[in-house]
Amino acid sequence: MGKAYSWHPGSRPLNARWILPVPLLPDEAFSGWLVRAALAQGCDPLVLTGELWPKWRVWTMDCDRGMPDDRLAVLEQECGVAAEAFRASMLPPLMVNVAGQVPELHEPWPWVRPFGRRNRRCVQGWQYCPVCLKEDDGKPFLRLHWRLAWHVACNKHGTVLLDRCPHCGGPVLPHRLAAEDETLAQCALCDGDLRETQPEDAGDELLAMQKTCDEAAGTGMARWGGKDVPAHEWFDLARFFAGWLRRCDLVVRRAFVDSLLPDAGEIERPVLTLSIEALPLDDRARLIVPAVRLASTGFGEMTEAALEAGMTVRSFRTRNRLPALLEPVVAALPERSRTRRKRAGSGDAPRSRAAVERMWRRLQRKAGLA
Ligand SMILES: [Zn+2]
Ligand SMILES: [Zn+2]
Repeated sequence: MGKAYSWHPGSRPLNARWILPVPLLPDEAFSGWLVRAALAQGCDPLVLTGELWPKWRVWTMDCDRGMPDDRLAVLEQECGVAAEAFRASMLPPLMVNVAGQVPELHEPWPWVRPFGRRNRRCVQGWQYCPVCLKEDDGKPFLRLHWRLAWHVACNKHGTVLLDRCPHCGGPVLPHRLAAEDETLAQCALCDGDLRETQPEDAGDELLAMQKTCDEAAGTGMARWGGKDVPAHEWFDLARFFAGWLRRCDLVVRRAFVDSLLPDAGEIERPVLTLSIEALPLDDRARLIVPAVRLASTGFGEMTEAALEAGMTVRSFRTRNRLPALLEPVVAALPERSRTRRKRAGSGDAPRSRAAVERMWRRLQRKAGLA
């Protein structure tokens, strides 16, 4: 399998006050480390955080999104891991490349899996790779990249992730584990071992999508057609397409998507109205794979396909803001359709000469002749 992307190097504790210091492992997520640290000291995560920060209910918020300096300083003093290393194990450094900035705490964060509230029906938990947890050798830990919405497979093992407990089907909520639970590879709801399952192969499509996104998030640059563009603009475009594929006119969509992704087949719309980040893994993967491929199509090819599919300015209009990369494409489209919309290739009337030439140019490009 391909080499997994590395997000941060981890850190060893120095001068810890704890009797059992717990190092921060490479790529470990901060909130997962907190749970692991509590279980290692033999206490409930809730008890540990209550002692560190009395009257501050850290588990009602998403502490992977960041933490105030003074709170982190208290933790550093106790556990010996540098605050700086903890900051690297949270989401904000990633957000700079993914969203162009660190979003406000009260807003939903693009491409970050949210944790639903406990009293809501759809409680979101962690997604994880059971094989990774199995190989962690007595120290199972939660990876930061499992918080990212485009992560639906394990790069290391080539298998799909799980977003539910394989035994009870409930969400994976490690912060609700108790002192007697030995590791966080246990389900807090049914006590089942999260590692006891054989995940399915992910297939090349999912892994390729994930690699494209990881590279963009890691380097801050992405490929749009033949051009390098800032990763956050590209992520914005991919997220727009993931939403657009759920809501657009099906006839237009078919013509546009068929022409750009002829092998994509029918794209199922999810029944749930949750944001793309909160959707169950299967639904999310079904939308993100074509969305990422569409977002990697450059200006020329995308505009040609849109014109050919009979798209107008209105075809890309959604409740969401138009991504910057899509603006020139939309600017090249007519305000409204001149003729009644027709499915490309299904009408009786012959195609216009210009349409045939466009198609020919695209075929040549695909075949590497032009
Ligand atoms: Zn794995
Ligand atoms: Zn369970």
